[in-house]
Amino acid sequence: AAMRQTRINRTKTVCTYCGVGCSFEVWTKDRKILRIQPTEHAPVNGISTCIKGKFGWDFVNDDERLKTPLIRQGDKFVEATWEEALSLVASKLGQIKEEHGPEAIGYIASSKASNEDNFIFQKFARAVMGSNNVDNCSRYCQSPATAGLLRTVGIGGDAGTIRDIAASDLVMVIGANPEESHPVLATRVKRAHKLHGQKLIVMDIRKHPLAERADVFIRPVPGSDMIWLMAVTKYIIEQGWHDRKFIDERVNGFDEYVKSLDRYTLEYAADKSGVTREQLIKLAEMIHEAGSVCILWAMGVTQHIHGTDTSTAISNLLLITGNYGRTGTGAYPLRGHNNVQGACDFGTMPAWFPGYEAVQDESVRARYERAWGVSLPAEPGLNNHQMVEAIHDGKLKAMYLFGEEMALVDSNSNHVEHAFEKLDFFVVQDIFFTRTARYADVVLPAAPSLEKDGTFTNTERRIQRFYKVFEPIGQSKPDWEIIQLVANRLGADWNYTHPSELMAEAASLAPIFAGVSYERLEQWESLVWPVAENGQDTPLLYTERFGFADGKAKLVPVEWREPYHPGKEYDLHLNNGRLLEHFHEGNMTYRSPGITHKVPSEWLEVSPELAEERGLKTGAVVRLTSPYGNVKVRVEITDRVHGNELYLTMNTRDEESAVNRLTSSYHDYITHTPNYKEMDVKMEILSHD
Ligand code: SF4
Repeated sequence: AAMRQTRINRTKTVCTYCGVGCSFEVWTKDRKILRIQPTEHAPVNGISTCIKGKFGWDFVNDDERLKTPLIRQGDKFVEATWEEALSLVASKLGQIKEEHGPEAIGYIASSKASNEDNFIFQKFARAVMGSNNVDNCSRYCQSPATAGLLRTVGIGGDAGTIRDIAASDLVMVIGANPEESHPVLATRVKRAHKLHGQKLIVMDIRKHPLAERADVFIRPVPGSDMIWLMAVTKYIIEQGWHDRKFIDERVNGFDEYVKSLDRYTLEYAADKSGVTREQLIKLAEMIHEAGSVCILWAMGVTQHIHGTDTSTAISNLLLITGNYGRTGTGAYPLRGHNNVQGACDFGTMPAWFPGYEAVQDESVRARYERAWGVSLPAEPGLNNHQMVEAIHDGKLKAMYLFGEEMALVDSNSNHVEHAFEKLDFFVVQDIFFTRTARYADVVLPAAPSLEKDGTFTNTERRIQRFYKVFEPIGQSKPDWEIIQLVANRLGADWNYTHPSELMAEAASLAPIFAGVSYERLEQWESLVWPVAENGQDTPLLYTERFGFADGKAKLVPVEWREPYHPGKEYDLHLNNGRLLEHFHEGNMTYRSPGITHKVPSEWLEVSPELAEERGLKTGAVVRLTSPYGNVKVRVEITDRVHGNELYLTMNTRDEESAVNRLTSSYHDYITHTPNYKEMDVKMEILSHD
């Protein structure tokens, strides 16, 4: 037995799936994963995990992993050496930059990759290629939440930790399905609700699992959250229930803000949002009576034309009721990917250096220019959405994308794929030959988290290390190494030998990471940014100051806009979201036979009322059509949805049923996040069973 023990390796890692940030040990023997073993040392999850974290790792050793670089020859891809692939990438990108300028190239980073991978990628785009055209998939999900928080409280992250949420008197969940999208976080809320008398309000158009447990569950009209939020806020102020002392001492803009609420009476809100007068008053009373309130939200709020403004309305409501800066209070946008928070924090955004310092700020730019010995572009670059449009307009000629299945996850995917076809040169770096890779000229094989060292930052702003378990498969390499190789061929002279050096550089440049180092993150240690130079971290924000120069928060007036509807013939509203068992486009989880056996494919949820009206049964196959495309899906009848609401799970491996064949190019007017959740479709029955 002793012999056997010595051959089993136990390595600490951080989950590669959702933004909760569970950590655990991976037990391995050679390249075999024996088990995932959570321990009580894990700062977020302790001994809990969900099905993805526990069983979702077969992809690492999957036969289809990319093992060598590939170069396109006509319609085919042929295996190439690193030398050939890197030479081609460098010469093509160099040539396009020379001929069309640095703005003609776009850089798509990865929310699945590490902080260090993202840091070096934005440095490559900015310092080597001279472009701020760098973005990540938060543009598809939580950019509006970040923007809403940056303008009201000054920091684009969760106000506190998951432990703080569990300590709240009242948790309000809007447009989020934590039980499936953030399972271990949902477990904490469920426990607090059951054992500690925490109150739970769920506002959602779909009765998801957490809604079933809520003290109050209300289904507003799709796209109307801002209206009822503002009506509740107005009512609270009218009753004199706002926190005057907190507002006087810590918040700017109250009078102007109150005026902006004029239109949002209970009557107006009831009419527009479908939340009744009694329900609105009940919500206001519950918020008033609770000693601490926190609000959790996700893509049901952000993926609308006014996603940023609704996020702002949430933060405004928290501000006027004094619900910031204490345990159990505050704003919690729930981050989807394991490292979408970190990708943003470490600067893969067109307007921000690492740590949310503006590229337009001269003194910040000067700091980076000194450190990097180059001059840097002063204007924000293109975001994901603008890059796609710029390709269609002939302005963007080349793209370098890593760890992002953009062909499937960006909205209006037919439009996105047509853009990819127009690119002069396209580099895709990933662990599999993705659907996006089909459009590439060069495909570079990358290594997933189990094959490298690095850090991820979860939804709580918590930075955690993960350690290399295996050597990279075949000739694949960690993303940061590949990016360094490309950079050096394009004129850089970098010699990073370990991701800790990239983190040290980020810490020396971005004040919010001042005290972050690999030494302080050994094993189960973690740090929640901002981290002072002495290593003091900040699990709970705003205890004394908000993130603006005068330390005060800002109430920001917003105005509701009518959502976009394509026309009467599209008579059904289609919502979409995640499944517990699968992750995102499914490139990883569908490779776990245990998971895929349990949930082999996606489905369309249809209400009993609509099923009766259309003569539909579970198992029927229907075609959904929007102005942008169509999909074919299997039907499940369920009262989770009601009336003319449909719900399509977005985790698919089948392009025929991918929801983004239907979604449009309309978007949040501030951040350009697509309005994935505002979609009208028509339905025709293809087969009845
Ligand atoms: Fe991974 Fe999220 Fe599940 Fe935790 S809750 S194991 S981070 S997918």
